[in-house]
Amino acid sequence: MRYYSTNKKARPATLEEAVVNGLAPDRGLYMPERIEKLPKEFFDAIDTMPFQDIACVVADAFFGEDIEKAELESIVRDTLSFDCPVVEVTGDIFSLELFHGPTLAFKDVGARFMARLLRHFISAKRGQTVNVLVATSGDTGSAVANGFLGVDGIHVYVLYPKGKVSKIQESQFTTLGRNITAIEVDGAFDDCQALVKNAFMDAELNRRMYLTSANSINVARFLPQAFYYFNAYARMKERGLADRLVVCVPSGNFGNITAGLFAREMGLPVERFIAANNANDVFYEYLATGEYNPRPSIQTIANAMDVGAPSNFARIYDLYGGDHARITSIVAGATYTDAQIREAMGECHAKTGYTLDPHGACGYRALAEGLRPGETGVFLETAHPAKFKDTVEDAIKASVDIPERLAKFMSGKKQSVGLSKEFADFKAFLMQE
Ligand SMILES: *Cc1c(COP(=O)(O)O)cnc(C)c1O
Repeated sequence: MRYYSTNKKARPATLEEAVVNGLAPDRGLYMPERIEKLPKEFFDAIDTMPFQDIACVVADAFFGEDIEKAELESIVRDTLSFDCPVVEVTGDIFSLELFHGPTLAFKDVGARFMARLLRHFISAKRGQTVNVLVATSGDTGSAVANGFLGVDGIHVYVLYPKGKVSKIQESQFTTLGRNITAIEVDGAFDDCQALVKNAFMDAELNRRMYLTSANSINVARFLPQAFYYFNAYARMKERGLADRLVVCVPSGNFGNITAGLFAREMGLPVERFIAANNANDVFYEYLATGEYNPRPSIQTIANAMDVGAPSNFARIYDLYGGDHARITSIVAGATYTDAQIREAMGECHAKTGYTLDPHGACGYRALAEGLRPGETGVFLETAHPAKFKDTVEDAIKASVDIPERLAKFMSGKKQSVGLSKEFADFKAFLMQE
């Protein structure tokens, strides 16, 4: 399979090039040149299939031409070492729980898959370590570090701004050791990002070591997210509730919902999607007006969705040939203030006993307000509420238990390297590694 750039100026790439480079040379996002429709027999039997088996079929449609079948299956099964169950919240609203992985957020799926795919590609170039550089404001670092933890031939450097990520988040990438190095930068997130960018542009450094990124726009992180949309449908079909399915996705950079739209193009019978936003709602505006005006992000309590210029807008636009009417016929929008998000967490907990995190709360509320008669809704619960313990407890007036795997990170010993925000320091550190 070839991958073309949404900017259409770069030449099409192989899967390996798309995965190793992340972004196309013309700064566009890679798209698979074909989206295969899955056969009717697959959908007829899907409710009898376990999640991992379903994911193998979906993975084969994207990656089957480029990776040998048994190897691909083992990558998929190894990635999905945890379930993505569908849980009833009210009679017609269900939660697709994506927080059962190692770092308790959906990004585990893409990060784990990408790590294993990268290992597959580099095992051909034996002997050379691939160094993954990632700048994080919190959640990406933990998903990438844990996704790559213990993967042979790969070393991960996580750069994070000193004092600007929560203790829980910090513990998820500074306590791992092994092939993960945490670098605490005396600066802001933007400084971390600048250090990574400069490293990729530094000729001397690139001669010395093989560098790559694990950015969320990477096709190997984005496409595997389609797996759990098929599982949501299967588990709803099992309940006899899949006839008019609406899937609601709390969205920031729009990678997650784009994977859902790809699933629909593969034939997944989802009636429509809802993209739920916090106050960063440029996509909501686009749906309403046809005009896309990115702007700087503002801080909210659903902070993983604080994105003012969602990268994957380019993929959605390309997927539907820029046809606004077509896009609005498939995707609706919703937007919520922090007060409304808190209200949704409180109301849902009081009415049903289900504890939402601030991101899932946007999804829940959009379904509670937006479902039409006869429709059944599934929202993506993108993170475990304990990751946002204080905010959630304050909203639901009850305590939130910390799962054991999260507590374990918090009791680990912090190991990090302190560096200034000067590129010369970072470069010197990498050169002596
Ligand atoms: C990253 C993230 C989102 C946003 O997902 P996108 O793919 O960027 O739209 C939503 N919720 C949580 C918890 C996240 O970590």
